[in-house]
Amino acid sequence: MGEGRSTIWPRVRLLVEGSVSLVFPPHCDICHKPLVDRASPVCVPCIAAMPLVGRDYCRRCGAVQGEYVGVISTCHYCERETKGFGVDQVVAAGMYEQGFDKLVKALKFGRRRALATLASAWLAQLVLDRGVETDIVVAVPLGRERFWRRGFNQAELIARQLAARIGKPYASGVLKRTRETPPQAQQAQEQRAGNVRGAFKTGRRAGMVEDKRVLLVDDVMTTGATLREAALALKRAGAKEIAGAVVAR
Ligand SMILES: [Zn+2]
Repeated sequence: MGEGRSTIWPRVRLLVEGSVSLVFPPHCDICHKPLVDRASPVCVPCIAAMPLVGRDYCRRCGAVQGEYVGVISTCHYCERETKGFGVDQVVAAGMYEQGFDKLVKALKFGRRRALATLASAWLAQLVLDRGVETDIVVAVPLGRERFWRRGFNQAELIARQLAARIGKPYASGVLKRTRETPPQAQQAQEQRAGNVRGAFKTGRRAGMVEDKRVLLVDDVMTTGATLREAALALKRAGAKEIAGAVVAR
């Protein structure tokens, strides 16, 4: 794969897609009904039906906790997950259901990049509400092949806008994905951790996270294996603290 091909083609494709969306009227990216408010990619009823994680969340992985506010600090998953996630805490906008699953799929596979605006707004709100201290924002990278095929990294789209919303710098080129991991949904947890082990190395701008509090952004956290590996690479680069931010847990 030539260097020119891998950088120019994604940009051309984005331009073409942008022109198409000007010609056809917008529909809600989740229920596909016509949009009244063109400023949002998702209609008001769909947004209203998506429960954001509120005050009642797992302090470790960001999952919704049930009704015991302030009683249990970590969820049942984290009680079993003894390795942790390599991060000090995780901020999740929602659970991977109730519309958040559709939103992530539409962003990633349906190429509905405007959804990153909505996702970044939710995450920025939660990061500020919870007082998560951050110096710099980093996205979990895609491998070259997957990036070339998709034309964009959904985590990077979210991370850039999230950084702007909370007034912190976004750093690209900090992490590199050394190899692709197979689509993970269908894999067992153990297999999954093995697949992603050592999948990240630090990039040419890794020095930017040295002694910094990093907000590490991804679209989805499933077992936490990807987040953990990316966090370990950041720690090797000297990151002081790391918080994860994901659209769906
Ligand atoms: Zn948890």
